[in-house]
Amino acid sequence: MRINVTRSALPPMEEYVDELRDLWDSHWLTNNGEKLRRLEDQLRSFLDVKHLVTYTNGHMALEALLRAMKLKGEVITTPFTFASTTHALVRCGLTPVFCDIEENSYTMDPAKVESLITPRTCAILPVHVYGNLCDHEALSAIAKKHGLKLIYDAAHAFGVSKNGVSAAQMGDAAMFSFHATKVFHTIEGGGVSTQDDELKAALELERNYGILDEVTVVHPGGNAKMSEFQAAMGLCNLRHAEENLNLRRHAVEMYNQLLSGREDIITPKAQEGVSSNYAYYPVLFTGGPDVREEMCKRLLQEDIYARKYFYPLTSDFACYHGMPGFDSSLTPIARRVASQVVTLPLYPGLADSDISRICRILTQK
Ligand SMILES: *Cc1c(COP(=O)(O)O)cnc(C)c1O
Repeated sequence: MRINVTRSALPPMEEYVDELRDLWDSHWLTNNGEKLRRLEDQLRSFLDVKHLVTYTNGHMALEALLRAMKLKGEVITTPFTFASTTHALVRCGLTPVFCDIEENSYTMDPAKVESLITPRTCAILPVHVYGNLCDHEALSAIAKKHGLKLIYDAAHAFGVSKNGVSAAQMGDAAMFSFHATKVFHTIEGGGVSTQDDELKAALELERNYGILDEVTVVHPGGNAKMSEFQAAMGLCNLRHAEENLNLRRHAVEMYNQLLSGREDIITPKAQEGVSSNYAYYPVLFTGGPDVREEMCKRLLQEDIYARKYFYPLTSDFACYHGMPGFDSSLTPIARRVASQVVTLPLYPGLADSDISRICRILTQK
């Protein structure tokens, strides 16, 4: 049977049907419904943050955040990410300025940020890629020193914390994705976390046409609301978050056992003080792109679909070709990592026998 890089977690069907019964009773399907409010409450407590504003998906959450903050000019960010991070900046009229990443965590290298700051810089947008936390202490010190906003793409970092501090509390705000392929999902969905009351109000206006009350519209906002069906899926999945985390941890430990200590394969390193969500299992083939191609081909022959997350770098996308600053040679570490990386299949319920098989395929001569 085909094995994909991930497989969406689903609650027992009866649990979801039970949630849906309420919707057939109330006929209330979206617009700040009961399920949505309950989910936002539960997410605030799960993520240990003052505000969590949900959206129809993570990308719209990020665009809403950039607009709610009224950012203008340049934003220092990373090219080693999903299309969404860079596209959101461009679509909101901002100019991405690409910073290189660290060797071990693949997150933005704080030592390379300050030289990229210009009078037009308004914010830093790093990504907790694979759920690896950015060096928040260093990045927030730089942001403070230069009066910049610090906002995280935390799409991969649901439930991750460092020394007891949730990723949702880091920076001025953080965006989470609740897409079907993520650690926690609402089918499609996303959210922005913040400790800031004013920003929270602006985030809510942004997702619902800027409507304050029945007769007062204060802002030309868009529509990016999460529906009750999505919220219902979230309520179910949140009940199983712990159980899914344990299954993911087991899979990661097994991969570590079978793959770590080799010269030709670099496995993920645990970060000190960080409580992981075991979202992804990225490995680097130190032999380079040709070895990676060969490994992907071998897996495909066995109907196993690993993915080259993240290749190409967003700065190399065809749609940005020739644009000033979109040049992967400016971020050599990101370029090398992107040329060597593969994320291996990882999801709750991935069989031990399949993990062994994948590792056998990757390590045979
Ligand atoms: C998934 C993802 C997003 C976008 O989230 P969606 O919910 O799919 O819109 C943004 N950034 C990163 C790094 C992601 O992986």
